[in-house]
Parts: sequence; structure tokens; C-alpha cells
Amino acid sequence: MTEENKDNRSTLSEGYSFDKEELRESMGWLIKLRWIGILSVLVGTHVIREVAFMSFSLIPVYIILGFAASYNMYFRWEVKFPGSNLKKLALLQIFLDQITLALAVYFSGGCDSPFIYFFIFHIVISGIILPWKFTFAFGGLAIFFPASVMGLKYLGLLPHYGIFKNEPMIFTDLTVMGSYGIVFISTVFLTAYFVTYLSRKLYNKHEEIRRLYTLSERLRSSIRLKEVIEIIEKELCGFASACSCIYMPLDKEKRVLIFKNNSEEINIPLLDSNAFSAAIMKGSAMTIDHRTLTSGYEASVLNALGIKRALVLPIMAASLRPCYEYFSCTDAECAAYGKEAGKCWQIASTHCKGRVMRNIIEKLDACLACELFTPVGLYVLDISKEHMPLEEFDINACMRLLDASGLAVSNALLYEKTMELSKTDGLTGLKNHREFKDAFNAEILRAKRYQRPCSLLMMDIDYFKHYNDTNGHPQGDVLLKKLAELIRENLKDTDVVARYGGEEFAVLLLETPKDQAESIAERMRNMIEWCRFPKEETQPDGKLTVSIGLSSFPDDGDSAEGILRAADEALYEAKRAGRNRVISA
Ligand code: GH3
Ligand code: MG
Ligand code: MG
Repeated sequence: MTEENKDNRSTLSEGYSFDKEELRESMGWLIKLRWIGILSVLVGTHVIREVAFMSFSLIPVYIILGFAASYNMYFRWEVKFPGSNLKKLALLQIFLDQITLALAVYFSGGCDSPFIYFFIFHIVISGIILPWKFTFAFGGLAIFFPASVMGLKYLGLLPHYGIFKNEPMIFTDLTVMGSYGIVFISTVFLTAYFVTYLSRKLYNKHEEIRRLYTLSERLRSSIRLKEVIEIIEKELCGFASACSCIYMPLDKEKRVLIFKNNSEEINIPLLDSNAFSAAIMKGSAMTIDHRTLTSGYEASVLNALGIKRALVLPIMAASLRPCYEYFSCTDAECAAYGKEAGKCWQIASTHCKGRVMRNIIEKLDACLACELFTPVGLYVLDISKEHMPLEEFDINACMRLLDASGLAVSNALLYEKTMELSKTDGLTGLKNHREFKDAFNAEILRAKRYQRPCSLLMMDIDYFKHYNDTNGHPQGDVLLKKLAELIRENLKDTDVVARYGGEEFAVLLLETPKDQAESIAERMRNMIEWCRFPKEETQPDGKLTVSIGLSSFPDDGDSAEGILRAADEALYEAKRAGRNRVISA
């Protein structure tokens, strides 16, 4: 995939990012917090002096607070400046804070100074703003600074210049110092661990919600299944930071998943026990890699894509509940028994409409025909990069992303079905009147622009009312269907065949001049005359026949209406002249 996706992943796997706006916001927050800290220390020391009658020098306090206030002012200005390097600024701030705290510890008596606890708060702040590596590094500094202050003092290398008159007693006892140190060090690292753990979790959730939001926003822009599939694919790929993502559609009729790569096409049967089928039938994610292959299909797909490890994710329309369930089975005789899993992972609907289904094919058919069986295909994501293994979190998040797309997929499927229905004739499966008119108008425009010929046949069954009256309307319907099939089969795929009205068919012959069209029409008429239709002997002529009116562009008109009128008049002429004939306009 793209660079953009790699970036997204690196932020995800590190648990936290230097996201510009977010960093700017947290640094603004830190600067405010620092002002509050400076003010509280300033007020606090004066209160202690006045109320508790503690006599200590205020000069170190002013030096430290002045230092902190000046860099706080500098950062306040820098953070607002749009071109500044926020990452560097964030690191420098935390570092300077540690120096301030080290000074405070030194001036307030060394290692048993109460200021030492501020290092812990500081680790928390660093954990919120920075990635975990920095938090642990600053944790190390938080130990190093007081330890050096204490060590130098103990060795007498640092002059005692404290705010308190008496030297703290801690320096006289190394045992106390040792236990004190251990507690302090473990507190620092535990704090660093908890804070980075929490902020990473929070960040992942935040990332997931952000992606769900983008996905729902994008899904709103489309109702077509192909586009919906592409939108989800793109989001998934970005989320899992996959280098490539392949969509495998499910052909419910052939009961196969179709894998198409540049040159190859592999049909993976649903009945075979492989990870792809398992993901489809169970409706859950699967990971496959070269070490855990369970069938040749996985190897073929991985090889074709040139990857080592893949995540297989089924995409499903929303449904209230799945029609299958994962059930335990110890019967090794069962066709669905998977040795590795020790379970029959395939179709569990052993009961369909109250009938026990033992045959695995029967079960699969029942499942595929069931409205609650909703998978439409699956995605294969390349997750083979060793340095960023996909975690449980990511897989679950991917599944949640797919769940959230269910409704969009349902709508797209419904839309596709509705579109199909609105274009086809329910009885014959041919194009309906409206669809034909659209195709015809478009073709006339094209023919005009490129100066190409095309012809129109209007075909009407002779004495069809009689056929209906004699054999009943249901039999009439059977005949219409058979005739429609016959016409379709005997024309080129590019020719447009439609049911124009009750028992009238329209045929648009592309790129066909009038003389050619005449011979095609005559061939069709002749074929229908000699073809055996059920109960045709009851017809007035003892056989089923049609009359055909023919007109052509540009010979018989230069508009769609003109051509249509000419064909209709020719058909009327054919009827008048005795039926079972072709009349050319
Ligand atoms: P002609 O040779 O002049 O065309 O005689 P005809 O009896 O075919 O006359 P016409 O074309 O007017 O008859 C149309 C008949 O087609 C009327 C109706 O009973 C029948 N019809 C129209 N649609 C359907 C349909 O969907 N199913 C069936 N069974 N019959 C239909
Ligand atoms: Mg008729
Ligand atoms: Mg008619």
C-alpha cells in the first residue's frame, strides 16, 4: 500500500505518535500546568516561612522559579509559532523540567527532599505526551539526577547549600539510603510502565474510533457494491498497514471463492477445508502463514501474492444472527470434520426447516440459499512484515471495522438487486421495455455520431390470444419463456433483446445494415416456424409463428422514434398481409 498507510501503522505500533495538533495541544496544557506549579511553589514557600516559622533562604527558590518561568515563557511562544519543530520542543521541555527538579532536590536537602516526588508526577506527564521509549528514558534521568546529587554530596564533592540549616540525617546512614533508593527506582519504572500502557491503550482506541468515523463517512458516499467493497478495502489496508489487499468475491452459485491475480485465477471451493472457506463459513478472521498451511489453496494464494503471512477477513452484510454455528463434533467420518481443529467447522445447520441434514452438500446448499447467510467475499491482507506483527487488538479492530460496514454492504446488495429487477422482465429474464428504450436511444446516438448502421426487429406472436384461450394463460407464459430463450440463444451477445410488450419482442441488431438484418429476421422467423412448441398444434395454422417488422438506421429514419415507428408499421403490415412473414420498412 501507500506511504500514508505505513505512517499510520508506525504510529499505531509505537502506541503513540507525534501527531502535530495533538502534541501542540498537550504542550499547551503542560505549559499551563507549569505556570500553576511555579505559582504554587512561590506561594507555598512564603506560606511555610511565615506560618510554620521555618527560616530558610529564599534565594535558591527564586533562582529555580526564575529559570522555570523563563523557559516556560520561551516554549509558550515557540509552541504558537507554526513552523517550530514540536517534537524537539517537547523533548527539550521535559529535559529542562528534570534539570529544574534536580536543582530543587539539591537545594532542598538532597535525596530526602520532598521535591523528589515531583519526578514521579513528571514521569506521568511525559507518558501522556511522549512515546513510551522517551518516558522510560526520562525515568532513567529521574533516577540519575537525584542519585548524582546524593552521591556527590556524600563524597563531599558538592558543597552543601541547602535551604535547611541542618544536614539531613539520611546521608549518615547508607542502609536507609539503599532501601530508599530501591523504592524510589521501582516507583519511577512502575509509574512509567502503567502510564505508557494506559496511554497506548487509549491511543489505540482513539485510532480505532477515528477510523470507524472516516469509514462511515466514506461509506455514506456510495451505494454501489463495487465501490463499497473498495472503500472498506482501503480502510482495512490502512488499519492493518498491509502492503497489499486482495478482494476475493464469493460465487454462491458455483460455491467457490474466486482469487484473481494479474495472470492467475484460482477457484477455491467452499467445501474444501481451508482457511478461506473457514473464514467465510464462520464469519471470523483467520491468519495464515507458510508454517501453518492447512491446504494447497493457502500456499497458492500466498505464493501468487508473494507474501509470507496474511490476514483473511470475511466481508458480510448485516444480519440479525448467523445461520451457522460453530459446533463440536468428534465424528471423523463427517465430511466437515477438520482434523486440526477437532471440529466440524463447516456448515452447522444440521437442521433446516425441521429436517435433519446429514449430507454436507445439502447443508451447504441450505446455508447458501438462506437469507441469513450473508458473506459476499473476503479480503486477504498482507501482514508479512516481521517488524510489525499484527496484534490481537488490530485483528479485533479490523473485525469491528467490518461489522460497522455490514449495513452499507446490505444496502448496496439491495440496491444492486433492485436495479437488476428494475431493468429485467420478470417472466422471461430479458430486458424490459424501459431498459430497451434507453439502450435503443443510446445506440441511435452512437450510430449517428460514428455513421454506423443498426437495425430493429419488432416481433409479435401470431394468434397468441387464441393460444391463451385454448391452453390457458399459464401455458401461454411457458411459451413466452421458451420463445424468449430461443431468440436470445440465436443472436449475438452484443445484440439487445427485450420483451417490448405482452407478446411482442424487440431486437436491436448492432452494426447491422438493412440487407443483413433482413436475412437474420428471415432466419429467425423460419426457425420459430419449424421449432416445436408445446401445444402449438392448437393454433389456427397448426404451428406457432411470428410476424416481424424491420427497420434500419439510417435508411428508415434518423431518430429513435422514427425507426421505432417504421418497424411498428412494418409489423402491422406483416399481420395484414397474412402473418408469419418479415416485412421491411
Ligand atoms: P395477432 O396475430 O394479431 O397478434 O393476434 P394476437 O391474438 O396475438 O393478438 P394480440 O397481439 O392483440 O394479443 C395479445 C395477447 O397476448 C393478449 C394476451 O392474452 C396475451 N398476453 C399478453 N401478455 C401476456 C402474458 O404475459 N402472458 C400470457 N400468457 N399472455 C399474454
Ligand atoms: Mg400477437
Ligand atoms: Mg401483440
